[in-house]
Amino acid sequence: MGVLVVGSVGYDTVWTPMASGKDVRGGSATFSSISASYMTQVSIVAVVGDDFLQNHVGLLQGHGVDTSGLEVSPGKTFRWTGRYGAEDVNSRDTLETQLNVLAEFNPTLTPEQRRQDCLFLANIDPELQLQVLEQMDRRPKLVAADTMNFWIEGKRDALAKVIEAVDIIFMDEDEVRLYAQEPNLVKAARIIHDQGAKAVIAKRGEHGVLLFNQDMAFAAPAFPLDRVVDPTGAGDSFAGGFMGYLAETGDTTPGGFRRAAILGSVMGSFAVESLSVERLGGLAYQDLKGRFDAFVGLTTFNGLGPGESLPWRNKDGKL
Ligand code: AMP
Repeated sequence: MGVLVVGSVGYDTVWTPMASGKDVRGGSATFSSISASYMTQVSIVAVVGDDFLQNHVGLLQGHGVDTSGLEVSPGKTFRWTGRYGAEDVNSRDTLETQLNVLAEFNPTLTPEQRRQDCLFLANIDPELQLQVLEQMDRRPKLVAADTMNFWIEGKRDALAKVIEAVDIIFMDEDEVRLYAQEPNLVKAARIIHDQGAKAVIAKRGEHGVLLFNQDMAFAAPAFPLDRVVDPTGAGDSFAGGFMGYLAETGDTTPGGFRRAAILGSVMGSFAVESLSVERLGGLAYQDLKGRFDAFVGLTTFNGLGPGESLPWRNKDGKL
């Protein structure tokens, strides 16, 4: 069915222990739409300034992304600056967020975009996420949103409305705790679930993701890599892979969600292998298939076969 993505498109300045880059391609819609494009047709709604380079639009178009909803406004493109910890690459400090043209953005959907069945509200101002949702002709079959501490702290009320309206919410695990004001992740996810989101997906960096919904919890690991160059965009790429799979297959069964989580992890694992979108933007079928197969190897174990039992020693209540 394809997916409509609204989010940020911008330039990132990043320092990691392995690499650094100034004004490299970034933004939640950039990573998530490229990631989803490996599985489904993507259309984006976003804004850039008049300093945005035309060949950077070409990267999205090269992935078949419909960029007719990418508005160019007078002014500067969104910019984000972050630094990752030398000891713990999972820890990141945002040094600067310049919303620039994003601050005045009024997304307007094309008639075709209003009819999309699958909507991904990538990390962006929750008021813009709501504006996009309100423009849909009817409630899409599947609506998901991502967010971050910047909006949890700055636009909590609007974010609460987003959470009420979506099927799936993606957040970093610390953001799940921050939003729910509950230190235990399981309890915090339940609080968010009770506020409306049918599935809560807690992204845990190199520890993978935890997916909670009414009936189940599922854990997908991150792929063990010996070289993490730049974690920026891993979460967006995860969400893009997750949504790309669901949009293309329409499989929202528990099994579909589990496979979507693994495909999200596949895409996130590529995103961290380079600065910006260098690696994510240039994947071949063999790369994707090879990493998926490696995930199958990483996550599969045998449950009990017929007639088998486990050698627990306390069957009779004693060891
Ligand atoms: P992730 O590493 O998946 O959390 O996403 C990082 C991306 O999010 C970067 O490319 C940033 O440009 C983008 N980003 C950072 N802060 C914001 C924000 N407040 N709103 C929208 N996008 C943001």
